Amino acid sequence: MTTQETTKETKAGQVTVEQKLRLIYKVQVIDSRLAEVENLKGELPLEVRDLRDEIEGLYKRLEKLTEEKKRLEKELSNEQNKKEELKIKLQKLEEKIKNVTTSKEYNALEKQIENQKLDIDLANKHIAELTQEIQVLEEKIKATQEKIQELQKKLEEKEKELESVIAETEKEENFLKELREKAVEDVTKVEERLYRAYERIKNKYKNRRAVVTFERSACGGCYMWVPPQRQLEVRKRDTIYTCENCGRIFIDEELANDVEKEFEEILKNFSV
Ligand SMILES: [Zn+2]
Repeated sequence: MTTQETTKETKAGQVTVEQKLRLIYKVQVIDSRLAEVENLKGELPLEVRDLRDEIEGLYKRLEKLTEEKKRLEKELSNEQNKKEELKIKLQKLEEKIKNVTTSKEYNALEKQIENQKLDIDLANKHIAELTQEIQVLEEKIKATQEKIQELQKKLEEKEKELESVIAETEKEENFLKELREKAVEDVTKVEERLYRAYERIKNKYKNRRAVVTFERSACGGCYMWVPPQRQLEVRKRDTIYTCENCGRIFIDEELANDVEKEFEEILKNFSV
């Protein structure tokens, strides 16, 4: 569409520019509302996904901790067995030393007993260390389990919330889509290329706005200053003007408010 397209049609039975602007702005208002409804869900699916990921990560951590604990418990049990064997050996040596006859034999046995006692001390030291490590792991396991429970509860709440938002928004979305279909039909009946232009402009911009009002003498879409003369012309509603900078279609505040109010009324009826 050109910037200054002349579409003045005031003959009886013809559609005026004002009516066209009304029709296309109605589509805009519905589209903006649809985007808002979509945003309502926006955060929740993400939050639910994040929670699921976090819980999965914690389960993996729990598995690793449990494996580590099992390994240390096995090591501890080996160490305890080793200590028992050392004690039995020591007992035997202590029996034996009572019956020796030579001092050479006595010294040798004494040396062996000494070594046996050192080994037992070492085993005791290992046992104490392992017991301590296992205790630390048990605390970590408990904390992880508690965290999982906490997040699990949070996840259930968020899932419920999401479910109800989806149920709620689905109704409104369907209602809005129906409204949109009708509104699009009304525009295309009058001027199909106006709707095509609308779609093209809307899809070009992230904020999905193709029909805009002025905001402090600037285009409500790109915020480029619009000369007062052009603003005045837009208010006359006898030609459709577009922004020279971004191509968005201009509509004056009063007409826009009118269409918005009309739409709010329709929405009110829906919520009843
Ligand atoms: Zn603009």
